[in-house]
Amino acid sequence: MSDAQYLWNPPPVASLPVRGSTQRLPINRIFCVGRNYHAHAVEMGRPVDKAAERAFYFTKSPQTLVHSGATVAYPPQTKDYHYEMELVLVIGREGFEVPAEKAHELIYGYACGLDMTRRDLQLIAREKGRPWDLGKDIEEGSVCSEVVPMPGHVIEQAEIALEVNGQTRQRSDVSKLIWNIREIIADLSLYYHLQPGDLIYTGTPEGVGAVVTGDRLEGHVEGVGHVTLTIGAAA
Ligand code: MN
Repeated sequence: MSDAQYLWNPPPVASLPVRGSTQRLPINRIFCVGRNYHAHAVEMGRPVDKAAERAFYFTKSPQTLVHSGATVAYPPQTKDYHYEMELVLVIGREGFEVPAEKAHELIYGYACGLDMTRRDLQLIAREKGRPWDLGKDIEEGSVCSEVVPMPGHVIEQAEIALEVNGQTRQRSDVSKLIWNIREIIADLSLYYHLQPGDLIYTGTPEGVGAVVTGDRLEGHVEGVGHVTLTIGAAA
């Protein structure tokens, strides 16, 4: 591999800083859980009956990752760019068809993330039965804080909240996840061989809404940390 001759320089490895370490965590894939808090599912017009349906997922390219503290351009082709504050689960060991009771063994740690969304394009895709990529896989649209190592630790309960320009817009608790941390790892590992460096955005609580140029977002998850983002002008 190291002898390969490329036509142009390959893109840099997407990575995140790690609290307490000088080493960065290289990112493999970015998975996101859809509709994983009841009140958010209801505000999206799609309530979830856990007894009758399975969790679903979408992915975002690692190239969309931007670190907390950044100012990002308001993205093209949307008039309804939304924030979604989320707890991000960081996988540190490989696993496939992992039983829920062993799911903690795959956990490296956690981070605070924003799953930024072109809501207008996502809803068009949803109505027409098209893929969600244009609504979700957005340049600079996957915001993430430093990673906090908590190997093997399952977060069962923690406040999750987001302020926009100092006003609280989202406030809930990780205990309200429809599919909890163990269930997400167990279920996602039925579809994918999970790998170190996989990020799983675990879903957003209710209160999602649109941002405009100049907005400053600050989110936190109790016991994990903070994520901030400033919305710049369209580039
Ligand atoms: Mn989301």
